[in-house]
Order: sequence, then C-alpha cells, then structure tokens
Amino acid sequence: MNPIGLRSCYDEGKRCAETLFFDYYRQHQLKIKVVRIFNTYGPRMHPNDGRVISNFITQALAGRNITVYGDGSQTRSFCYVDDMVDGLVRMMNASEDLIGPINIGNPNEYSILELAERILATTGSKSKIVFEPLPQDDPMKRRPDISLAQKQLGWKPTTGLEEGLNRTIEYFKTTKRNTVV
Ligand code: UDP
Repeated sequence: MNPIGLRSCYDEGKRCAETLFFDYYRQHQLKIKVVRIFNTYGPRMHPNDGRVISNFITQALAGRNITVYGDGSQTRSFCYVDDMVDGLVRMMNASEDLIGPINIGNPNEYSILELAERILATTGSKSKIVFEPLPQDDPMKRRPDISLAQKQLGWKPTTGLEEGLNRTIEYFKTTKRNTVV
C-alpha cells in the first residue's frame, strides 16, 4: 500500500476503519460485522461517479470517446448491485459470531479493454476507444476470493456481466441524469 498517493485516503481509510471497528469490538464488545465490498455496478449509479462501468456506458450512449486508462489489460470483476445487497443482508442476518472480514463481490474477471468492447457491442455505439494514462497506484487485478461468503452465508452472485450490463444500459438510456462525464 502506498500511504501518500492519490488513492491513499480511500485505500488507507478502508484499512483504518477495519482496525478501529476491531478495536471497539475487543475493547467495548461492540457488535460489529466487516464486509469487504468489491467493484459493484448497476442501475442508479451516478453518471458522473467516475467508475469504469458508468463512464463507459454514458460515453457510449452519448457517442463520446471511451476512455480506457493504460492499455486496458488490467482486470476487474464486477458484482451486480442486487447480488451485493443480497450478500450484505445475509451477513447482517447471520449469527453475531460471524464478524468477518468477509469478501462480497463477483470473482469473474474481465479486462478493462474487454469491458469497453462489450459495452460498445451491447449499446451499438460508434464511439472510439481512446487510451489515456493509467492513474497512479491503479491495481492490475482486483478479484475477490468469496469462499468464506459461500461457506458461511451460502451466498454467491447469480447475475452475469451480460445481464447486468443490459439492465444498467437500459437504466442509463432512460435516466435524465445522463449528463456529461
Ligand atoms: N478506468 C478506465 N476508464 C475510465 C474509468 C476507469 O479505464 O473511464 C479503469 C481504471 O483505471 C481501473 C478500472 O477501470 O483500472 C476500474 O476503475 P474503477 O474506478 O471503476 O474501480 P477501481 O479502480 O476502484 O477498482
């Protein structure tokens, strides 16, 4: 972890939050549950949120360039929002002894370039893919090991990328918030 980089307040913020929760648990027996949320997407994302799926869809629908950072070979695994909420609710309803940390996310991995191509194909957009500099400390890979969630919560994601992207694209086609990124 880079403690002083552009993304550090985000990265270290998450780590510090877990540390403090566990201290409160040990010291004050506070009831806690810690879930590590991996990349999530779906309807009702803000179009200017800056995440890759909302960026690519809003760009494709507006016919603007698709901005791939780096060469697009970095991979991510994307969890549809309904699956995420189901995992979170299962964790909240689980026994008090199950405190985590537990990973919730979709382990199916896609390169960012592949994601751009899929979104272009699904929207039928004529947008061009352009390559822009990779942001500092951008991970090459982010993929959850969900074996604990599978075992302890009987949870695994059920919505594949194609179905999830279709629903998300439909949302962005109809929303009035589809403003310029
Ligand atoms: N990304 C991209 N173009 C964009 C937005 C993001 O190529 O317009 C890349 C970004 O560099 C990263 C990946 O897509 O490699 C996922 O980015 P996001 O911010 O959605 O999630 P995170 O980096 O936090 O996993």
